Formats: sequence, C-alpha cells, structure tokens
Amino acid sequence: MKCPFCGSGSGHIRVIDTREVTDGIRRRRECDQCKNRFTTYERVASMNLLVVKTDGRREEFDRDKLVKSMRIACTKRAVSSATIEQAAQKIEASLYALGKLEVDSKKVGEMVMEQLRDIDDVAFVRFASVYRHFQDVDSMAEEIKHLIERKRREEELKNQIPLPITGE
Ligand SMILES: [Zn+2]
Repeated sequence: MKCPFCGSGSGHIRVIDTREVTDGIRRRRECDQCKNRFTTYERVASMNLLVVKTDGRREEFDRDKLVKSMRIACTKRAVSSATIEQAAQKIEASLYALGKLEVDSKKVGEMVMEQLRDIDDVAFVRFASVYRHFQDVDSMAEEIKHLIERKRREEELKNQIPLPITGE
C-alpha cells in the first residue's frame, strides 16, 4: 500500500483507527511523511464454492437452490420458512468451513439429510429416498415434487366415492 498523497511506502503508513462495519473492516490511516489521512476498507471476498455433480459437471454453489429443494421436501409439513433458512445457513457455513474450493454434490446432499432428520421425519424420508437414488441435489427437487403428487393422487383415489349413476 502506498500513500495516495505522496506515494510513500507502507512502512510510512500507520493505522490510527480500526472499526468493524457491516461488510468488513474500516481503517483510518495516516502517512508519517506527509501527515495526510485516508481510509481503507477490507472486505471478505465471497468465495465461489463449486459443487461437483455426479457426472463431473461443476456448478457454483447456489443457496437458493438448496432452500428450494428443502422447501419441496417439506411440502405440507409443519416446517416454517425460518427453520429452512436456518438449516440452509448451517449447511452453507459447514460447506465453507471445509475450506475447499470444490465439494461433491453428494456431500451437500448428506448435509441436507442431516438437517432434515432433525427437522421433520417425513421431509427427511422424502428427501432421502429420492436422494439416495439420484445422488444429485438438483435432479432431486423435481423428483420429490413428483413423489408428493403421486402420493396425493393415490390418497385421492383411495378416498374417492363412486359417483351415483344418473338416469337419462
Ligand atoms: Zn504521504
């Protein structure tokens, strides 16, 4: 870092104030050569985590997609959006905590199952049954949707009362 006023090197610049702001750290600095002061900001660069699918394709980790597939698994269950959000946050944090640039979609699926197991039995079974077959979080969401629709149709069929035959 160089002083923006006189170009002196970093050896001449000292930090006189450090403050944490919402998206990073703000530092007030002073150059001991020209005595000018300036501010710098440090921000955490968002890490681009890549998810490696079973077929080897890589896709950027998408939190919204994660929330969506969990939401589908929780269809018509007593699970609040806040609970799903929280679970997604936990999964995201654990993924970044691995400290890797790439993570297998399988690992993501396992983390989702771990969360759903604690949240709702039915959602867990829905997710797990489809996931274990597909081993891929993306194609799964669609499948769960179909699974739920199929179950609903079966229920409807079971509860259907035959219509009385009307005369001419
Ligand atoms: Zn200076």
